[in-house]
This record gives sequence, structure tokens and C-alpha cells, in this order.
Amino acid sequence: MKCIICHGDEINLTEVKEEFMMGDDIVYRPIKIPVCKNCGERYYDRRTMQFMEKFEM
Ligand SMILES: [Zn+2]
Repeated sequence: MKCIICHGDEINLTEVKEEFMMGDDIVYRPIKIPVCKNCGERYYDRRTMQFMEKFEM
């Protein structure tokens, strides 16, 4: 897998804190997603997107 932004190949599964809206509150949840080590681009997979959608109500 190569980064679509910088074409680097150092994409590692990294734990990041993602913002979720829960009503009027913003909660931070640690999720593991592939992140480009070079430019910091985050690659969300389908499962992560569904996980996030669950929190956005
Ligand atoms: Zn990159």
C-alpha cells in the first residue's frame, strides 16, 4: 500500500484519537487506523467509517 498523497510506503497502523459528536458533546476515542509516517495522511477503512457513523447521531 502506497500513500496517495506523498507516494511513500511507510504506512503504519497507528492509534489516534478521533473526535466523535455525541449530541452536543465531543468525545475522543482511540482508534487504530493506517497513518502515513511521512505526511500524516490517515486512511480510514470501511469499518472505521461505520464505527464513526454510529457515533454521529
Ligand atoms: Zn504520505
